[in-house]
Amino acid sequence: MPSLRNLLQEAQEKRVAIGHFNISDLVLLKAVFAAAQEVDVPVLVGLSEGEREFVGVRQIAAAVRSLREEFDFPIFLNADHTHSLAKGLEAARAGFDSIVFDLSALPIEENVRQTKQAVEALKAIHPSMLVEGEIGDIGTGSEIHESAPDLSKGLSTPEEARQFVESTGVDILAPAVGNMHGMLKSMVQGETKKRLDIERIAGIKRAAGVFLTLHGGSGTDDEDLRKAIAAGINIVHINTELRVAWRRGLEDGLAKHPDEVVPYKILPPVVEAVKQVVASRLRLFNGEGRFARGA
Ligand SMILES: [Zn+2]
Repeated sequence: MPSLRNLLQEAQEKRVAIGHFNISDLVLLKAVFAAAQEVDVPVLVGLSEGEREFVGVRQIAAAVRSLREEFDFPIFLNADHTHSLAKGLEAARAGFDSIVFDLSALPIEENVRQTKQAVEALKAIHPSMLVEGEIGDIGTGSEIHESAPDLSKGLSTPEEARQFVESTGVDILAPAVGNMHGMLKSMVQGETKKRLDIERIAGIKRAAGVFLTLHGGSGTDDEDLRKAIAAGINIVHINTELRVAWRRGLEDGLAKHPDEVVPYKILPPVVEAVKQVVASRLRLFNGEGRFARGA
């Protein structure tokens, strides 16, 4: 089984990205895994602190490991948006493959100081652990927002990215490049799309020289996503699109079986709805299957 680092390196060489999908129950995990098997590409599943709290840190680590081992399939586990070292250490000890250490809400000096400490402490547990740091403002909450926050002042610059990576030693950087957590109602309805600053991504890639993650990918223009990947994005996070599909699938399942109480008879439409979203995003990130997992 190749390591996540090796797969990221391979993705970088092939100019494709690995899809990262947030999960908070076994239905979502089942759907993401089924989609990755169908498209036959590696996949990352992630859980924020809130999502981990709900599922259980060691429980989800055991579930993902069991899929990886039983199916000999490259599915990896990320501790998304971790705001304290204690929570990061908990995930690292449970066997997570990567940690997103997110102190982007703090002043940059404090973000640098604490992220550097976290990189050292997390790698002391597993030297192969990948640590991601965050700079800039991309908003919070993978939910449906009424109005768009003004994030223009929080965009990342190449110089800031270079300094942050040099000072902290992170393996992966998550910059603010026009992306945003959550979706607007108009995006859920397909009327508007998020647009990305491709030049900024290319500049940050040259300056920082590390793997780059795009957070808040839900509702982004397809062509912008392709260009962003060509410009140096290696991981794309999708959460809200899955949550929307999960809810619609559930409403569908309940409506189709108004008197049913058996969960495994109600839930298949949820799995199918989420699987479709994930498979379509994976195909886009992998440019018509150039990154077959066995290749
Ligand atoms: Zn995020």
